[in-house]
Amino acid sequence: MSGKGIETLFTVDVKKTMTEQDQVGHNRWHPDIPALFSVEQGESFRLECKDWTDGQISNNDDPSDIRDVDLERVHALSGPVHVNGAEPGDLLVVDILDIGTFRDMPWGYGGIFAKENGGSLLVDHFPEADKSIWDFEGIFTSSRHVPHVEFAGIIHPGLMGVAPSQEMLDEWNRRERELVATDPDRVPQLATLPTENGAVLGNVKKGPEFDRMAKEGARTVPPRENGGNCDIKDLSKGSRTYFPVFVDGGKLSVGDLHFSQGDGEITFCGAIEISGWIELRINVIKGGMEKYNIKNNPLYEPGPVRPDYNEFLVFQGVSVEEDGTQTYLDANVAFRNACLNAIDYLKTQGFTGAQAYMMLSAAPVQAHLAGVVDIPNSCATLAIPKAIFTKDIMPS
Ligand code: ZN
Repeated sequence: MSGKGIETLFTVDVKKTMTEQDQVGHNRWHPDIPALFSVEQGESFRLECKDWTDGQISNNDDPSDIRDVDLERVHALSGPVHVNGAEPGDLLVVDILDIGTFRDMPWGYGGIFAKENGGSLLVDHFPEADKSIWDFEGIFTSSRHVPHVEFAGIIHPGLMGVAPSQEMLDEWNRRERELVATDPDRVPQLATLPTENGAVLGNVKKGPEFDRMAKEGARTVPPRENGGNCDIKDLSKGSRTYFPVFVDGGKLSVGDLHFSQGDGEITFCGAIEISGWIELRINVIKGGMEKYNIKNNPLYEPGPVRPDYNEFLVFQGVSVEEDGTQTYLDANVAFRNACLNAIDYLKTQGFTGAQAYMMLSAAPVQAHLAGVVDIPNSCATLAIPKAIFTKDIMPS
């Protein structure tokens, strides 16, 4: 450590939209979005981040802003950062040195997305929008909309990724268009395809170049080979992520900060979504992709700062659809059933279904695949730490 103060390279005014900021971030993946600044390898720096919806959700009891959210404006990202000396084939070694909320904004939100606008894992059970506001006291959070729980946040960026190469971007668009074409009228849609509506592309000015990039810029909703919206709840302070580099400088971007999240982020807007800041340090391993056989997708090491939960109540689910259809080892169906079983139980303990659903999405619950080979059923588990409850919810 040099002892000199850490520099904030990207600032946001939470009262302004991303396009109104002094430095304009982006909400699409495209290799031609110019980096906003560059850093030296090993240099520590701070970025401020808007919440993922770019400020569309308010601290009140009315879920209509969740219902009506404009999803073409997401995710509001800070960056890209150009790392001096990074070239395709290298690995970026990204350390999260620290991460936090803004002092004058000690709250975040979670929500169930409406079937017509986003949907969620249990969309057929919860087709209506709902919202929970979570208040922060230091590391702890509780919600006036979800009773009987209080827990420590494992604060992390839901989204961190590097720019794709043009070839990779073309491939994403090919495969996602093919998927959507199998059922183009489905609600919710099968994938989020590029759209010019709401596209923010850094400091690229409106014109033919902007139009070309907006038409092909990948939406930031899914995780992909570049990392992106992975929503890994343990990617908190002290963690280290290794990103493959596909373009000169790597072009790393960050956003979608979460005060806390359960594995799976099951309600879609499922974490405790916040604006805030993150401090990073980036190093480069030259030729690291070939050296470690990392072609796609980052890998990471969790940090040393985590809550210490030892006791859990664990729900199970197997891969049979609710209408009785037998799937072949569909782990997503198994996990959905584990979540439904947990919600059914929590309804006997003073929660409404929607409260239980939002709680499982926001609290640090752990999802695991127990078995994926015992045909025809996968088994998934959902483990809820007993310590997050402010009253006894165990069977007796
Ligand atoms: Zn999020």
